[in-house]
Parts: sequence; C-alpha cells; structure tokens
Amino acid sequence: MKIAVIGLGNMGGGMAANLAKAGHDVNAFDLSPDALARAKDNGCTPFQSVRDAVAGVDAVVSMLPNGAIVESVYTTDVLGHAPTAALLLDCSTIDVATARKVEDAASAAGYAMVDAPVSGGIAAANGGTLTFMVGGGGDAFARAEPILSAMGKAVIHAGDAGAGQAAKICNNMILGATMVATCEAFKLAERLGLDLQTFYDISSKASGQSWSMTSYCPVPGVGPQSPADNDYQGGFATALMLKDLKLAMEAAQTAGSDTPMGLRARELYEAFDAAGNGGLDFSAIIRTL
Ligand code: NAD
Repeated sequence: MKIAVIGLGNMGGGMAANLAKAGHDVNAFDLSPDALARAKDNGCTPFQSVRDAVAGVDAVVSMLPNGAIVESVYTTDVLGHAPTAALLLDCSTIDVATARKVEDAASAAGYAMVDAPVSGGIAAANGGTLTFMVGGGGDAFARAEPILSAMGKAVIHAGDAGAGQAAKICNNMILGATMVATCEAFKLAERLGLDLQTFYDISSKASGQSWSMTSYCPVPGVGPQSPADNDYQGGFATALMLKDLKLAMEAAQTAGSDTPMGLRARELYEAFDAAGNGGLDFSAIIRTL
C-alpha cells in the first residue's frame, strides 16, 4: 500500500520506519527537517507538505502532539486532498471530543476514519510492538487492522469513533494513580525498615501487584530494568503523563464521572512538572515522596 505518515517524532518516526520495513510505500511529512531526513534514512519518501504527501495514497497515519494540531491538519490538508478511498488513522493521543469531531468531518467528506492511540513508548514504536486501541466502525477497523499490525503486537477494537481515545485515557489514569501509589508504598516500606527488594518480592506476588510495580518498578536496582535504573531518563515523560491525566480529567468532567484518584494523580504530576521535571520519566515522582 501507499501510506502517508504525518508526524515523525519520537513515536511517528519509528512507526513510519516499520511501515516501510513491512513493504509499504511510505510518504513522510513533518514540520521538522531533521525528522524528515531520518525518515528518508529509514526508507520513507520525504514530502514538503501534507497535501503533497497524501495525494494518491491508500491510507493516512498521523502521530501528532495534540487535538488542535490533529484537527487543523485533517480539516485543512487531508480532507479533500487525500483520495476519499483512503483510510484515515489518527494514532495521536487526543481528547475524545476532538477525535469524534474530526471523524465526523471525515465521514461527512466521504472518508472512513479511526482513532487508534497507542500504549507502549518509544522503544515499542521502534520495535513494532505497540498496542493499538481502535475507535471506529467495524468495516474501518477491518481495514485498519493489517496496517496497524505492521507497527504493533496487539490491535484491539474498542468501539465506535472516539472509543480508542476513551480507552487510552482510562488506561493511563490507572497508570498515573498506580504509579503514585506504588511509589508511596515503597517509601513507607523503607521507613518501616523493610528491605525494598524483599518488599518487591512479596508485593509483586501479592495483591499490591500492578504494571507500575512489576514492569516499571520506580526503585533503582529493584525489579526488572526500568527508567529508575537510568536515573529516570528516557521512558514515559512526566509531561506526557500529565497531558493524559488532564485529558482524563476533562473527559471525567464532561461525562459527570467521579475520579478522585485520577484527580489527585493529576495534581501531583502537575506539581512535579511545574518544578521542572517534565522531561524525567514519570516514575521519578518517587523523589518527591
Ligand atoms: P514528538 O513531539 O516527538 O513528535 C511529534 C511530531 O509532530 C514532531 O516531530 C513535530 O515536528 C510534528 N508536528 C507537529 N505539528 C505538525 C504538523 N502540523 N504537521 C506535521 N508534523 C507536525 O511527540 P511523540 O512523543 O512522537 O508523541 C506523538 C503522539 O504520541 C502524542 O499524541 C503523544 O501523546 C502520543 N504518545 C507518545 C508516547 C511516548 O512515549 N512518547 C507514548 C504513547 C503515545
């Protein structure tokens, strides 16, 4: 297939490379010349505008920073410029309302579109092991699945338009809250005189277990390799966790849903980010406890 990839940053760069590796013709566009040059090195064809990149393609994949940019790119440069037969896949993490608005606009212009945000960070984007949660109609999902499979290990249909984004922010609300809870439990265990490796061995096999503990332990030298073992560099940036918690709290407000733990996690990550830690992995919040 001929596939345009718009947004070739930390995530989109690896995703475009994996589409090319899978044998697709990849038309690449990013505002950053460096990102465009990297995409060229990875077997993609660089273009100088979204409109040029999407002309004549079978699908458009976008991986952009936020909802405002996604809306502007699609409504200004994709709709009416890509063939209406092209499937549109937005993999960015954005608010549910904007995802539905853009999908409505696409549908009105004659396109099939899915929201397909991802779980898994930069390593998973580079390694082709992302998990995609997909919102959109059944036919669109069936068309999206083989394209997304070239970039991921799991592609799950979450429901209609916006459902992928809804799943993503609910998942990351759990992640933010369990990370803080895991960090504070390790700090309390330490104060109570427990050896932290021993506490890990117990809790990772008991009911305190979670992904935050057993796959991403916030304590250096305990559990599997994680950003904690690299001075909290790399991994999933605090600024991105905060972005997802803000999206979750906006959605909770709109839906009239009570999310006290998500709210507290947002407050804590807001303070941690404001103190200049936005670039550190989100497990570094253990330093504040
Ligand atoms: P990034 O900032 O590295 O990349 C975004 C890219 O979009 C940049 O290269 C930027 O130049 C480009 N861009 C911005 N505006 C553009 C426009 N109008 N047209 C074309 N290109 C444009 O960000 P990222 O880490 O790759 O994240 C992308 C998306 O993936 C975000 O929505 C983020 O929330 C989500 N996400 C990130 C991670 C992660 O670990 N980094 C994990 C899951 C989901």
